[in-house]
Amino acid sequence: MTSPVIPADLAAWCSRNDARAQDELFAFLRIPSVSAKSEHQSDCAAAAAFVADALTTIGFDAEIVATDGHPIVVGEWRKAGPDAPTLLIYGHYDVQPAEPLELWTSPAFEPTIRDGRIYARGSVDDKGQLYLHIKALEAHLVVRGTLPVNVIVIAEGEEEVGSVNLEQFLEREQQRLRCDAVVISDSCMFAPGIPSILSSLRGMAYVQIDVRGAKGDLHSGMYGGAVVNPAMALARILATMHDANGRVAIDGFYDKVLPFPEAVRAGMRALPHSDAELMHEVGVAALGGEPGYTTLERLWTRPTCEVNGLLSGYTGEGAKTVLPAVSMAKVSFRLVPDQDPDQIVELVRRHVARVTPAGVTASVTAMHGGRPWRADLKGPIIEAGKRALTAAFGREPVITGEGGSIPVVGDFERILGAPVLLMGFGLPGENAHAPNEWISVENYRLGIRAAATLIDEFARAR
Ligand SMILES: [Zn+2]
Repeated sequence: MTSPVIPADLAAWCSRNDARAQDELFAFLRIPSVSAKSEHQSDCAAAAAFVADALTTIGFDAEIVATDGHPIVVGEWRKAGPDAPTLLIYGHYDVQPAEPLELWTSPAFEPTIRDGRIYARGSVDDKGQLYLHIKALEAHLVVRGTLPVNVIVIAEGEEEVGSVNLEQFLEREQQRLRCDAVVISDSCMFAPGIPSILSSLRGMAYVQIDVRGAKGDLHSGMYGGAVVNPAMALARILATMHDANGRVAIDGFYDKVLPFPEAVRAGMRALPHSDAELMHEVGVAALGGEPGYTTLERLWTRPTCEVNGLLSGYTGEGAKTVLPAVSMAKVSFRLVPDQDPDQIVELVRRHVARVTPAGVTASVTAMHGGRPWRADLKGPIIEAGKRALTAAFGREPVITGEGGSIPVVGDFERILGAPVLLMGFGLPGENAHAPNEWISVENYRLGIRAAATLIDEFARAR
C-alpha cells in the first residue's frame, strides 16, 4: 500500500484559498442560528440559506426543505453518473444557545482568533466541521471541474434540539438519498495532532423509580422502627444494582453485550491516556468501575448503571423528624451493542420487583431511550477515511469510542443502509455547548484537506 498523500492539485488550491475559507466560515458563524429559541427562527432560516447558497455557488443543486421545525438543506451533485458511488455528507447548521453570555471572552457570534483557535458559538459544533466539507467539494470542482463520486450534502437545523424531524425526512426521502456511505464530522480527535475515527457510541435507557410506603408522611418517633421507610427501601433497591466489584448485578444485563474486537481494545489500551490526569481533571482521589477493563474501555466499550438523582423526605434547613411516604430516583443505563433499551427497562423492572422489600411498593417508569452504535471498521469508507486522515495529518488515525450518544448515526445506517464514517476535527476542551467554544485554525485547514482527499480515496477504494 502506497503511503497516502493529499493530491497535489487539491493541496495547491487549499493553500491559495485558506484565508477565504476562513472568512466565509466567519460569515456563517455570525448568524446566531440557535435552534432552541423561537426568537432565532429567522436566523436559522438565514443559516439554511447560507448553506444552500454556498452549495449552489460551487455547482450543486440545493434545496431548502421545510419541516415542522427548522428546514433541512439538501445539496446534490450527481454528474459522476449512475455507476459511480454516492457519498452522503451530513452536518448541522444550528447551534446551542450562547448563554451565559458574560462568560464569553469575545462575543459568541463575532468569531475571534486567539492562540490559533477560532472562538465562536458553533465553530466546532458543527458549522466549522460542516463548512470544511463544502470547501473540500469546491476544491475538486474548481480544480478539476468534476468529482469522482456523486455527492449528497444534508445540513439540518435541529440537531441541538434532538433532530426531531430528521428521521421522518430520511424515511420519506429514502430513495433519493440512497448512498454507499455517510460521512459525519461532528466529533473530536483524541488529542492535538492525533487524527481519530470514532467507532462507537453508547446508547441509553433512562428510568424513574418511585417507592411508596404509608399513606402520608409520618412522625419518625411514633412510627419509626415499625413502618418501612421508603427512603431506606430505595437505598436498598439501588444498592443491589451493582455487585461489590462494580459490575451491574441485574439479571441478564450483559446477555446481549457483544465483546469489542481484541484489536480495537488493544488500540484503545495503547492510547496516551492517564488516569492520574483524569482524577486531577475531575477532582477525585480514586477511580472506580467494572473490573478487568481500563478507564477508556469502561467509558467507551462497557455498559453502565448510574443514579442521576434522588429525592425523599425532608431536605430543608435544620432537622425534621419525618418518616417519608415516598422516595424517587432517576437512573440511567449507558448501553453498548447489542443491548436494546426497551429490553433493559424490562430487566430493570423485573429486578426492582424482585428486590423491593415488603411494606413498600416500587414502580419503574421508562423515560427515554436510544440504541448504541458501533462501526464495522472495514469497507471502502473506513479505508478511505484512514488514508485521507493519514495524508492530511501525517500520521495514521487512532480508533476511539465515545461514552455519549449521537442518535442520528444509527438512523442513517438503519434507514439508508449505508455505513457511517465519523471523522471529527474537534479537540478535547473545545467547549462545545459551553462558553468560549472554539475550533483549532489548523484543524479547520487540515480538515478541508482530509475531506478533499477522502473523496479521491473513496472513489478509488471501491
Ligand atoms: Zn453537533
